Amino acid sequence: MERIITIWPDFAADFACKAGGCRHTCCRGWEIDVDSDTAHWYLSLDGPLGDELRRKIRCDDGTYSFRLTADERCPFLRSDGLCRLVLGLGEENLCEICTMHPRFFALCGKIELAGFGLACEKATELLLAAKELCFHAEGDSQSFTFPALLMFLGYPVPDAWLRPPARLTRGQMSFLLEQMEATEPIDAVWTRQLAALRAAGDALLLSYAQLFAAQGEAVAGRLTSYILYRQLDKVPRYGIGALAAYARGNAAFIYLLAASLQDFPEAVRRWSEQIEYDEENTAHLIEACGRESSSFLIGNGR
Ligand code: SF4
Repeated sequence: MERIITIWPDFAADFACKAGGCRHTCCRGWEIDVDSDTAHWYLSLDGPLGDELRRKIRCDDGTYSFRLTADERCPFLRSDGLCRLVLGLGEENLCEICTMHPRFFALCGKIELAGFGLACEKATELLLAAKELCFHAEGDSQSFTFPALLMFLGYPVPDAWLRPPARLTRGQMSFLLEQMEATEPIDAVWTRQLAALRAAGDALLLSYAQLFAAQGEAVAGRLTSYILYRQLDKVPRYGIGALAAYARGNAAFIYLLAASLQDFPEAVRRWSEQIEYDEENTAHLIEACGRESSSFLIGNGR
């Protein structure tokens, strides 16, 4: 049997959950399923923690999950951001989702593309701080660039596709806002954030260009490339052109959001949890940007 090769971004080696130091715990705001092997083990534990696990794990149609608190937090998340299951049972005894999150894996033929989702504060920090976005095969120390990976996979793209336009037109901004407004909002704050972008009007175009210039092309390139990297398993379905337009359009949107929030890492993280963690929202954006790819998202905006 042919071996699957797993590719990681080089910055993965520096990942460590910020735990209590994270402004945005990932243990809040969504259902946390517990795989059945771990659930059965949790439910069999003796002592006060076992009793609490029996009270705080529920089973619906054979699927186990934690009973979230009224404010949608994991019941084992402490107010200081630490996890009582890690503290009481050890990190090695977490359920699959808690062990794997925020990692993602996408199969691309015999290549597995792995990484850390940008909804994680630490992953975003590492991506933005990296000197260059390079990758390596698991167990191999040799690094290669994203264009080299695309070439290897048979999806070479022009360099200009791997960063958003330096300046946006009014039409491009309007298109991006319309598409974002058509996605299912993760929360009411997202809807307000989009409304603020609308209200900013043309002033936002100037802020976009200033932010792009201040951040530099290298950051724009890393961000766009990493957004595309996460979707490469979808090339057979959508084509590399549509996915590159998706990456470019969404990177452009992140600059708009960052210009409004005055917080670039938070804009990346916020966009990711709204779009990348909702398959329907991702599909909507890929299809919409793919339809528009030849008209303006592939143009360089200079
Ligand atoms: S978002 Fe990232 S850094 Fe923050 S708690 Fe979750 S895994 Fe840790």
